[in-house]
Amino acid sequence: MVDTGQTLYRRAREIIPGGTQLLSKRPEMFLPDQWPTYYRSAKGAEVVDLDGRTLLDMSYCGIGATVLGFADPDVNAAVKTAIDLGAMSTLNCGEEVELAELLVELHPWADMVRFGRSGGEALAVAIRIARATTGRDMIAFCGYHGWHDWYLSANLGETTALDGHLLPGLKTAGVPRGLAGLMHPFHFNKVNEIEAIISEHGSRLAAIVMEPVRSREPTPEFILGVRRLADQCGAVLIFDEVTSGLRINSGGAHLAYNVDPDVAVFAKALANGYPMAAIIGRRAVMDAAQDTFVSSTAWTERIGPVAALATLRKHRAQNVAAHLVRIGQRIQKGWEDASSAARLPLHVSGIPPLGHFAFDLPNAQEVRTLFTQMMLDRGILATGSFYAMWTHTDEHVDRYLEAVNQVFRDLRLAIDQ
Ligand code: PLP
Repeated sequence: MVDTGQTLYRRAREIIPGGTQLLSKRPEMFLPDQWPTYYRSAKGAEVVDLDGRTLLDMSYCGIGATVLGFADPDVNAAVKTAIDLGAMSTLNCGEEVELAELLVELHPWADMVRFGRSGGEALAVAIRIARATTGRDMIAFCGYHGWHDWYLSANLGETTALDGHLLPGLKTAGVPRGLAGLMHPFHFNKVNEIEAIISEHGSRLAAIVMEPVRSREPTPEFILGVRRLADQCGAVLIFDEVTSGLRINSGGAHLAYNVDPDVAVFAKALANGYPMAAIIGRRAVMDAAQDTFVSSTAWTERIGPVAALATLRKHRAQNVAAHLVRIGQRIQKGWEDASSAARLPLHVSGIPPLGHFAFDLPNAQEVRTLFTQMMLDRGILATGSFYAMWTHTDEHVDRYLEAVNQVFRDLRLAIDQ
């Protein structure tokens, strides 16, 4: 029997706690019984769902992982070869050394590299190494960094980070309460907040962890200030490039701001959706990996490194980042134009390859759900976010913006009624 997405999802809810492995793929975020939920195939910029609908993906696009597009032929060819040669063995694969060398070449400040297979996991390694290097426990942080105990402990005890630092409603049952008080949140572009943390806890701070860019570009004062303050108190500066990496260049976004961290963490786009993560860092910090225990069987398989090498090489050779920026600029301008034309107030944010909009209305969430549904009816997967891919063409953008213009006008009419 062939299931439709919705019947399969009903089965999933019985057997998979929460029905899904990733909060961002929760169908409840969309209209009940409408969201396509499962895919049969994904190629280029299109997804075919379990009910046979072909949808142009103009949303999170593999939740930011498939920067080259779905099922990239070059990455897949490299992966198929690796599978045929044996994706796992008792010995190490040579590609992990090649990949480490390529990452250090792309980031001249870094000397050494370790690998993981997901962003949250790699950040947990980076934090462990920072704590091992400094012999300290406290962490200053800004933004989202995964599901591990070190991070969720921010929501324990008195140092609560619910004022926008963690996803609203993120629950912490099961996180040891003994970790309470180690995490100190600061807001992006607020040097004074990080200064205050350091003046109170500087000598106990192991790391400052943040994305170099996300919904806004960093001010020079902020990003230079964070570097200076980390040096001042002896904390390890970690840039989380899980989402920002491979967007505005073929490496870390931080390269564009001329500020070198001590450690940077990559995942998502690094291997175009194949599980792969990298922790790159200065020798003095990375050497501490010898003083603690970070080791995993899955970190030694071959598909991740092979896919990452193929992704990075294509990314560089084709200047993929320039395409992502150009397509993203068209989208962000298109949102603004459509919002003015329809008189639908909108707040646009993000850098062009990772753009977001929010309706500036009292019932913004409901309007966004309706937007998603109305776009779905036009064969387009669309949310309030757009992550550009190499396979997005100008024709895709034209089709998408035409639909956005129409849907915004229809939403305005519905609101006015
Ligand atoms: N850090 C950032 C900035 C992220 O955006 C994410 C995921 O969205 C993570 C870490 C966690 O990565 P993963 O989902 O691969 O565990």
